[in-house]
Amino acid sequence: MKFSTEKRFIAGVICPKCSALDKLVAYAQDDTNYRECVRCGFKDEIRISSPPNELKTRVNRSTNQKNNKVSAVKFVDFD
Ligand SMILES: [Zn+2]
Repeated sequence: MKFSTEKRFIAGVICPKCSALDKLVAYAQDDTNYRECVRCGFKDEIRISSPPNELKTRVNRSTNQKNNKVSAVKFVDFD
């Protein structure tokens, strides 16, 4: 997850420093996510643990269906 470089308010988040509600903005800077309080200037790095990569098992089903064409051969004798 990566935040935009544009500062956006995080709704419902209380500043751990001044306990102000809805005063924290989140933004990305140099590939790092930050949260910053617009009231007291508290700034912290947001560490988001990336989920482990899911091992996607792709089953390649090769179509082994052989085209069994029954060729009918007619022997016609013209006497
Ligand atoms: Zn604050």
